[in-house]
Amino acid sequence: MTKTASVVFQSQPNAKALLEVKNLNAWYGESHILHGVDLVLNEGELVVLIGKNGAGKTTTLRSIMGIAPRATGSITLFSNQVLGKTPDAIARMGLAYCPEERAIFSSLTVEENLLLPPTIAPNGMTLDEIFQLFPNLRERLSTQGTKLSGGEQQMLAIARILRTGSRLLLLDEPTEGLAPVIVDQIANTIALLKRKGFTILLVEQNLSFATKVMDRVYLVEQGRTVRMMDRDEVVSKRGELEAWLSV
Ligand code: ATP
Repeated sequence: MTKTASVVFQSQPNAKALLEVKNLNAWYGESHILHGVDLVLNEGELVVLIGKNGAGKTTTLRSIMGIAPRATGSITLFSNQVLGKTPDAIARMGLAYCPEERAIFSSLTVEENLLLPPTIAPNGMTLDEIFQLFPNLRERLSTQGTKLSGGEQQMLAIARILRTGSRLLLLDEPTEGLAPVIVDQIANTIALLKRKGFTILLVEQNLSFATKVMDRVYLVEQGRTVRMMDRDEVVSKRGELEAWLSV
């Protein structure tokens, strides 16, 4: 894909940008991984990053969260520049991150995992609200993290960040390695979170999952956002996108 005019990365008129990333570059040691990521996430939107393995999607989320070792450019969160801030400071501003590896504490039970997160903002979900979203977790409350299925671990990982009260979520490949029936459950939950007003930046390779929940998508290629598409365009170019992802 060739990079399209930068105008596509600007916020829509009348929309309130909660997160704006401009010309983000990032390095792991000497390896220059991101070469210019630009994106906007408006209040209430669900925006997806797609791209081949190694394109830099996870590194983008990690840079936004302050985890990637070195980054330059601009990352504005709730109108504050956060580049260079610690992950803890960024989380306390109200940004929650659910990493690809899920990071469940394996020696703790489901309940203990759910009780761990700090309260970042009022209105974090109660355990009862969590169980309405994920009924399986109620049944597994005293089960250790290691004994959970991949789907249950993913649900717990999402549930945990919902406990904090943060309304802006970064979700990294929540469907990876999961059975289609679980993928559908997670799609329904994410769609429900969007209806509840959460703002979500999602990394996802599964196009049919992504199109069920997205407003817009950014295509990431070799460390750059090369193009933005709205949902209708993604649906109409599904074949072209599948081919681009699989090359
Ligand atoms: P995937 O779907 O495989 O996770 P991705 O688009 O999320 O792909 P990244 O995980 O951001 O890609 O990786 C981008 C590049 O950075 C890859 O070439 C990867 O090998 C490299 N990379 C990732 N993590 C590290 C690290 N900790 N140290 C060095 N290089 C890394």
